[in-house]
Amino acid sequence: MTAELAFFGARARVAQAPRRRSTIPDGRVDGKWARFIPSKTTTRLTTKFVATLHVRLVNEFRFEAAHRLPQVPPGHKCERLHGHSFKIELSVAGPVDPKTGWFIDFGVVQEAWQPLYDRLDHNYLNEIEGLENPTSENLAKWIWDRMKEKLPSLVRVTIFETCDARCEYEGS
Ligand SMILES: [Zn+2]
Repeated sequence: MTAELAFFGARARVAQAPRRRSTIPDGRVDGKWARFIPSKTTTRLTTKFVATLHVRLVNEFRFEAAHRLPQVPPGHKCERLHGHSFKIELSVAGPVDPKTGWFIDFGVVQEAWQPLYDRLDHNYLNEIEGLENPTSENLAKWIWDRMKEKLPSLVRVTIFETCDARCEYEGS
């Protein structure tokens, strides 16, 4: 399916992307972002390209856990053992497949998250390797490191420690 439109004063042709879908769950095609595909029939006045829609998808998760912060100043309330109802947002970003109309299935993110949920939920975070000082900042990095391996399109991890206080981490 094609459509003609005026583009920078010349005739251009917009076409659907090839009817194939990446098997890589982050939306890449053969490991590369598919944005510009030269036409085999390009002429002097006609250029064929794919207009790609880029989106960010966000999944929200929750878990309950206990922790204490061993590095806070003496007498700080967070030094004492306490718990939180953590809310987590995992954000992935990439191009929309023009045939399916989606970037990736939300279920892919949910499957990737499940093993981490099993490790964190109703546990004492200080006892988990790498979370000996389980601040929201360190927890965001800990989750990022493990999720990024499974979801290369991950762009942000957000940790809501309370309803109105959160930490956002984007891998740098
Ligand atoms: Zn706390």
